Amino acid sequence: MQTKIDRGILLVISGSSGTGKGTVCNSLRKRRPDLEYSISATTRSPRAGETDGVEYFFLTRDEFKRKIEAGDFLEYADNYGNFYGTPRDKVLELLNLGKTILLEIDVQGAHQVQKNYPDGVFIFLLPPSIEELKRRIIGRNSETEESIQKRLSIVNDELESGKSYNYVVVNDEVERAVDEICAILDAESLKVGRNLNLFDELVKNS
Ligand code: 5GP
Repeated sequence: MQTKIDRGILLVISGSSGTGKGTVCNSLRKRRPDLEYSISATTRSPRAGETDGVEYFFLTRDEFKRKIEAGDFLEYADNYGNFYGTPRDKVLELLNLGKTILLEIDVQGAHQVQKNYPDGVFIFLLPPSIEELKRRIIGRNSETEESIQKRLSIVNDELESGKSYNYVVVNDEVERAVDEICAILDAESLKVGRNLNLFDELVKNS
């Protein structure tokens, strides 16, 4: 059965640092190549193997601030000293074309999208346990001691904010978590409000 989506789905995947958002989203994108991925802008330096315009648009702080002032971001956040933001125009253009767009963003950013675009589908990724989350945050070699402590100190508040999302997925096993996200996407795409064209076409031809 073919459904026709009137407007695309803005799929927001968020959660505390260490829940594995990046890994889950990479696997989801392989499974669902039809998903558009919003490339964020950031002021952090590229890591080895990262290319401007592929993983991120790498901007200077001045360039980023100018874009904030111009209202160019759907959301942005200061994430442990670096700015990250979602370019607004590209996302809205793709939604108008009926595309499903994946945003992998932190909890502060997701909170702004909830305000600016409440029609989004908000999925909160949970770690299997607090011990595992701490292990993942501490285990990242890229983090300084200060940044580890900052990340750990806001985990409880971030978990609390997850209660306002639409869906929760536990990332105990990546492929299983991706199965659940695919099921959410399938159900969302069948919502009546996203498929009013189907009704209109039938009425037109009756
Ligand atoms: P990383 O520097 O490891 O690539 O990402 C650090 C954090 O920034 C991750 O939690 C990631 O989800 C988040 N992030 C990436 N892009 C965006 C964005 O456009 N907006 C917000 N608010 N967070 C982002």
